[in-house]
Amino acid sequence: MIKTILPGQTIGIIGGGQLGRMMALAAKEAGFRIAVLDPGIDSPTGQVADIRIVAPFDDEDALAELAEASDVITYEFENIDAAALERLAAKAYLPQGAELIRLTQNRIFEKQAIRDAGVPVADYITLASYEELHEKHTQLAFPFIVKTATGGYDGKGQQLIASEAELSLAQELFDNGACIAEAFVPFTKEISVIIQRNVHGEAAVLPIGENIHVSHILHETIVPARVADKSLEQAERAAHQIADHLKMVGTLAVEMFVLEDGSIIVNELAPRPHNSGHYSIEATNSSQFHQHIRAICGWPMRKPELWKSAVMVNVLGEHVAPLTSIISRYPNWSLHLYGKAEAKLKRKMGHVTILTDDLEETLAEIEKSGIWPE
Ligand code: AMP
Repeated sequence: MIKTILPGQTIGIIGGGQLGRMMALAAKEAGFRIAVLDPGIDSPTGQVADIRIVAPFDDEDALAELAEASDVITYEFENIDAAALERLAAKAYLPQGAELIRLTQNRIFEKQAIRDAGVPVADYITLASYEELHEKHTQLAFPFIVKTATGGYDGKGQQLIASEAELSLAQELFDNGACIAEAFVPFTKEISVIIQRNVHGEAAVLPIGENIHVSHILHETIVPARVADKSLEQAERAAHQIADHLKMVGTLAVEMFVLEDGSIIVNELAPRPHNSGHYSIEATNSSQFHQHIRAICGWPMRKPELWKSAVMVNVLGEHVAPLTSIISRYPNWSLHLYGKAEAKLKRKMGHVTILTDDLEETLAEIEKSGIWPE
């Protein structure tokens, strides 16, 4: 059953983080009401929602309450119990379903699905145990990366293995269950392609950004990505292939590596708006959050247009004080803070977006600001 959800109706969001907050803000512009389920009483999304349900994500009564309050339900993070989501789909309108969550929670399922869509991934092997790493690793050359199948993020749950002597470095990862080992990819750039697809199967891709990580956490996204047009075309095609193969609804962020020869391979998927798409709030005609709301509400997708080149820089806990104390120096920077009470080290507190006619000059200015020391 496909529905069109209209302003005045209520969008329920599972998860109260910054992604839910920015979804809610976009939806409220058009007059939707927002209900949110999150265990925190003062969550970033809760602060801007009409209805707050404060409970753990696996609380079936709370999920039922969310279903009761909402005309459509979406989610803003991927670590929701897929079975609970499936049960919810039986009593609420959840156009995204539970399958995309189930797939992207497990690297083994995810890689297989990407391959099935006809899109390349790094060579990999699946490993049920540490013993299997010893038995099977010769199928890959060194160096390779062992990654837990479930539960990893921001570089956690990963270990680079450069030689036979280093195999034991990966032992701990198996405490968390099965792993994969994948070839180390000598990429030249990391890019992400955010594709959004509505309940009618209509898809739109945001302008593609280039991502720079520091200590495994996204630091900067530069748009447009400084890679060859043919790589961007290949990347966009790959994202469409995956989205269509999965018949997904909502948002899928496809993280890719660009190789020396300009070809691309897919690293991983995120089934939700993505940190690398935050630039789209200021720099495009329809942000990833607006597009997400359109997709789940059965509205036509807008064809994204980039107004200007842009740089998005993440604001972690340690950047908040220097940034807010000198913000008056940067009138052209758009500051987004997510309303999190405690500025903990490495915690994502907000981001800054800068529209620019001169990317290199802006990148130099960011570095010169001293807010983001290396
Ligand atoms: P992931 O959690 O898979 O996104 O990995 C986090 C980061 O580790 C990526 O953004 C890359 O910078 C790096 N990385 C992951 N997998 C590989 C790989 N196969 N080869 C080289 N670098 C990788």
